[in-house]
Amino acid sequence: MSEKSSGSDLASVATRAERTADGWRLTGTKMWTGGAHVNDYAIVLARTDEAEDRHAGLSQFIVDLRAPGVRVEPIRLMSGEHRFNALHLEGVDVPDGMLLGQRGDGWKQVTGELAFERSGPERYLSTFPLLVSLLRELEQRPATAEQLTEVGVLAARLHGIRRLSLGVAAALDTEASPDTQAALVKDLGTRLEGTLVDTVRSVLPTTADPHATPGSHPELLAFALLHSPGYTLRGGTNEILRGIITRGLEQH
Ligand SMILES: Cc1cc2nc3c(=O)[nH]c(=O)nc-3n(C[C@H](O)[C@H](O)[C@H](O)COP(=O)(O)OP(=O)(O)OC[C@H]3O[C@@H](n4cnc5c(N)ncnc54)[C@H](O)[C@@H]3O)c2cc1C
Repeated sequence: MSEKSSGSDLASVATRAERTADGWRLTGTKMWTGGAHVNDYAIVLARTDEAEDRHAGLSQFIVDLRAPGVRVEPIRLMSGEHRFNALHLEGVDVPDGMLLGQRGDGWKQVTGELAFERSGPERYLSTFPLLVSLLRELEQRPATAEQLTEVGVLAARLHGIRRLSLGVAAALDTEASPDTQAALVKDLGTRLEGTLVDTVRSVLPTTADPHATPGSHPELLAFALLHSPGYTLRGGTNEILRGIITRGLEQH
């Protein structure tokens, strides 16, 4: 979905799909394409038709990442990991059969997909391994009442988010469009992911070390610290989510 100048304002995507004799020719650059360096296909949102309403005229395509004209450029995370890429599409031919869904329905399709992406466990459990690690560490020493209280508050909040997330999953099963609820879960969930890191550090001050034994407390802390800034950005920033929530509440 995202491009250099189209993140929050996704409807401004500049990647174009032009009609050819037997399909489409895609031109543009996508940012943050996860796994494009190892995967076979990517799903690309592109403009197929000019329309007064910016949300109309968008379509999705399944693109073969080994097709001529595809160039994958790494985007390194702060941890140095290569998970994401800039995906350059330089006149890539895509057959008709690889149009995903309906021509012109791209906006409706991506907002539906985002409701799935925003409400799942990966939106509130990214830093959960650090909490498990804290509990293991506390088992090794006598924990104070204050430490246990902080852990209890985190556990209670996680339980609450889990119930909300399951509620959205149930709504998705009924073919409802719980976009507002999903945005709410992501805003609450990603903030809790950050709070969890702060709480773990205050309960058990530890020096983060990305080179420590994998799975050890200092390594998990380093991982959480280096990845946390992305949690409230990927899948839509919290400011954008609150706009969606506000509009949703107004409609009700
Ligand atoms: C680790 C990571 C993984 C990602 N994975 C993917 C992926 O798999 N697929 C994909 O398509 N994209 C992905 N993204 C891109 C992500 O969706 C965008 O970064 C995000 O939507 C924000 O867009 P932007 O970076 O262009 O920032 P901008 O849109 O330029 O926003 C900059 C700042 O301005 C604020 N802002 C912008 N507009 C408003 C407004 N109207 N009201 C209030 N505040 C506003 C934002 O909240 C933000 O703080 C990923 C990003 C990261 C960091």
